[in-house]
This record gives sequence, C-alpha cells and structure tokens, in this order.
Amino acid sequence: QFHMIKHEDLTWKESLGQGSFTHISRGSKTDQRDGVTHSTEVLLKVLDANHKNCWESFFEAASLMSQISHKHLLLVYGISVHKSKNVMVQEFVKHGALDLYLKRSTSVSVSWKLDVAKQLACALNFLEEKNITHGNICAKNLLLAREGDPSADNSPFIKLSDPGISMALLGKDVVLDRIPWVAPEVLDTLEIELECDKWSFGSTLWEIFNNGEAPLQGLDPIQKQQFYEHFSNLPVLEWTELADLIIQCMQYQPELRPSCRSIIRQLNSLITSDYEILHATGTHPK
Ligand code: ATP
Ligand code: MG
Repeated sequence: QFHMIKHEDLTWKESLGQGSFTHISRGSKTDQRDGVTHSTEVLLKVLDANHKNCWESFFEAASLMSQISHKHLLLVYGISVHKSKNVMVQEFVKHGALDLYLKRSTSVSVSWKLDVAKQLACALNFLEEKNITHGNICAKNLLLAREGDPSADNSPFIKLSDPGISMALLGKDVVLDRIPWVAPEVLDTLEIELECDKWSFGSTLWEIFNNGEAPLQGLDPIQKQQFYEHFSNLPVLEWTELADLIIQCMQYQPELRPSCRSIIRQLNSLITSDYEILHATGTHPK
C-alpha cells in the first residue's frame, strides 16, 4: 500500500541528525515524467541498523501518512528498501522543526504562534474525524514550510510530521523522556487513543507559547514520572484564556479533554490584543 522508491533514484546530501531510532538526511529523488527527469528535494529518514526489528512500525508510520492527505500533514512519498537499509522518503520542509525555529528566533509575535496553534488544531480535527490517533505530537514534529512575517500579515504554514516508531517498541526510557507530551494513561498501557493527542496538543501549545522551551526541561526520568504520579500541571501561562485551554487539554481523565471542535472554537475566540494589553500594562515584564 505504499509507493516503493528505487534506491538508485535517491541522492544523499548532508546529515540533519538523529531521531528516535532514526538517522535523518537531506537528499533528492529523481523520477521520470513524460520522458523528462524531475528532481525533488526530499528528507530521508533511515531506521537505525540496531533497531531493525522496528521496521514494521516504521513503515506503518509511513503508510499512515501516505494514506491520508491534508494541507497540514507532511507528505510522505514512499519507502525505499535497499539491502538492509529501510528508508522513509518524505517532503523536505524548508525551515525545519518548529521548536528549533522558535528557540533561535528572537521575536515571534503572539498572533504568529496562534496561527500555528490553529493550523495544528485543524490537522488534529481532520485526524479526529477519521478516528486516527497520531501519538507523537510535539513542536519538534511540527515542520515550518513557510516562515511568514507577522508584521506583514503573512501567516506561517506548518506541517505535522509522521509519528515514528510506536511507543510500545521504543521502550520505557524513551516514553518517560516524552513526558509531558505523552498522555499519562499511555505510561500504563502503551496504547494510544484519540484523547492522547489532545493531551499532547496541550503540551505543544505550552511549548509554542514558551518559545520552544521544552516543558519540564531539566527533570530526570524519575522526576518526570513523579510529575504524573502527583497529577501535576505545567506552570500556568500568563494569558488566562490560553492557559485555561491547556489545562482542559491536559486533564488526567481522558474523557474530560475537549473535542477538536471545541479546541478550534476556543482558539478562534482568543484575541491577541488581550495578551498584548497584558504586556503593555507591565503586569508581566519579559
Ligand atoms: P520522532 O519519531 O521522535 O519524531 P524522528 O525520526 O522523526 O523522531 P526528529 O527528531 O523528529 O526525528 O527529527 C530530527 C530533525 O530532523 C528535526 O529536528 C528537524 O530539524 C529535521 N526534520 C525532520 N523532518 C524533516 C522534514 N520533513 N523536513 C526538514 N527537516 C526535517
Ligand atoms: Mg519526528
């Protein structure tokens, strides 16, 4: 059910780093259309040789992404298998991961961040309607296709990346490391349900509005686990209405988390000027 890409059609360029059991490179792919050779810039995600047993899960992620199509979901072109090398070939997204982008940018406006949040909610709504759980939503897995320019009324454009290898295979240390993005109930069952993505959406919102800072940064795995055992919440954002939405999404009882429709409605009712007034009055110097 997925498109197989010939290894000869791939060209490898620089390495972009490691993911969860993966190695990531930039590259290009050639194909013949109407007798003409076309070259497309791609991202090549290679499954680590010492985690070969994860190939089914790895290709399941690729298959999921190739079966559904939405403007805010990353395009997966197919897979390539060469000798023992398993490769996921996907769209190369120009500005890379959102967490890194936010960390290196000095001034990103609130309305820019709100646009990103709305786009992610739109992708989640699409998945919810199809009854599909993503399972690995975080700012690192949001890729920035268009930078936009807050001052020129030009919005950013994001794409949600593939979920990668299933948590059941990644092992306890990786799962603990994903606190607070991974929903608390997943720690017990290692199974993901629709509601898990709502929790992850909440912590991703937190991350976006804290300029890409990882929530609970600096806590070791045991402390992270205790955070959940004590039913703790992330530090509350100063923008009350947004903070409230994050709290709703990150409810320990999955059934209490809002639907995507409700998330979208709440995001649409947020007025950026409320936040800006909060800053202008100096209630919270930055
Ligand atoms: P995980 O399954 O945990 O998400 P992964 O294998 O997807 O792991 P990441 O850590 O998400 O790996 O990605 C590593 C880095 O690769 C990102 O920080 C980003 O900079 C870059 N990257 C990933 N996908 C793309 C893409 N499609 N286009 C451009 N850059 C990308
Ligand atoms: Mg990823």
